[in-house]
Amino acid sequence: MSADYYQVLGVSRDATPEEIKKAYRKLAMKYHPDVADAPDAADKFKEIGEAYEVLHDPNKRAMYDRGGNPMGGGGFAPGGFGFTGGGFDFTNLVDAMFGQQTSRGPRSRVRRGQDSLARLNLSLAEAAFGITKELKIDTAVICPRCSGSGSDGGGEPVTCTNCHGSGEVIAVQRSFLGEIRTSQPCQVCRGYGTIIPNPCGECSGEGRVRSHRTINVKIPAGVDTGNRVHLAHQGEVGPGGGPSGDLYVELRVAPHEVFQRNGDDLEVVVHIPMTAAALGTVITLDTLEAERDDLDPEEATVEVQIAAGTQSHARLAMAGRGVPRLRGGGRGDLGVTLIVDTPTKLDEAQRELLAQLAAARNETRPTASVAKQGKGMFGWLKEAFS
Ligand SMILES: [Zn+2]
Ligand SMILES: [Zn+2]
Repeated sequence: MSADYYQVLGVSRDATPEEIKKAYRKLAMKYHPDVADAPDAADKFKEIGEAYEVLHDPNKRAMYDRGGNPMGGGGFAPGGFGFTGGGFDFTNLVDAMFGQQTSRGPRSRVRRGQDSLARLNLSLAEAAFGITKELKIDTAVICPRCSGSGSDGGGEPVTCTNCHGSGEVIAVQRSFLGEIRTSQPCQVCRGYGTIIPNPCGECSGEGRVRSHRTINVKIPAGVDTGNRVHLAHQGEVGPGGGPSGDLYVELRVAPHEVFQRNGDDLEVVVHIPMTAAALGTVITLDTLEAERDDLDPEEATVEVQIAAGTQSHARLAMAGRGVPRLRGGGRGDLGVTLIVDTPTKLDEAQRELLAQLAAARNETRPTASVAKQGKGMFGWLKEAFS
């Protein structure tokens, strides 16, 4: 006679079949030869298998309780399960031993709504400084007529008589291999297991209808094309009045006719006359803030100091006048690239002055100074706007 089977499984003598099953499952996972390191694991595993074999079967358990030997000498044979192969999924094996099949059961009428994606266009200033924008979305809302129940007059769904509430029907086909059983969603209740006797005329029993909704979307300062604003529970309502999904708003920033964005920097190209570049000057420039109506116009300008002898294509960086950083605070730069304009349409006096200047600088017939190829000559714009 073996050890006390109840002790082996660690359950009381009046344990329910469910408790026995649970205890065995836990021990089997622990002592399975593939996972256990203890030298006596194999024996232990055999022992708990034997205990379970007896106790989970009501007839054998009754015989054992009366003092008989239900194993009849044959014994529990773990080899029959093919334990030798390494790498198989032991959890599945235990599930198979218990006959636990992953049954889908009836579909729930109440489900969470899907997440949705909307797109929102912004101007560069809106993206840079943030804004709250109205957004009209096409979405599913709770049916106003049935309040999501799907039923007219508030009647409760009744159990489907075709599938008896399981939501699925078993089709049996005969083949030369034997019977093949397949389970399919019930056609009558469409897998719900219940039928709404008097479906709502507005939503056809779905509990929700399509509608337009206007929401306010708060856009943080510093966003860029491709950024998404996540609005929890602002997506569509689920079937049967289920909880709403989330809404993602994908942003697209329109190009600006003056400012070009490069990460957190803004770039602008400014033309200055040749004389100003030679003599030096100060120019006042409107910044992107000029498009904000909540700012004093004074704050929306920047003074750019241009040193005497500034060359065409020079870039001056105005620190902290670019786009606010979405994370980390601070702002990028405003890059001002200067283009020196050669004067055209000179009158006689101006032409004479320039001729005198050229003579004084010995530049009436300058020697050609050939530049080497490189980004200095042709790459400046590319570099500034890359
Ligand atoms: Zn309805
Ligand atoms: Zn059914």
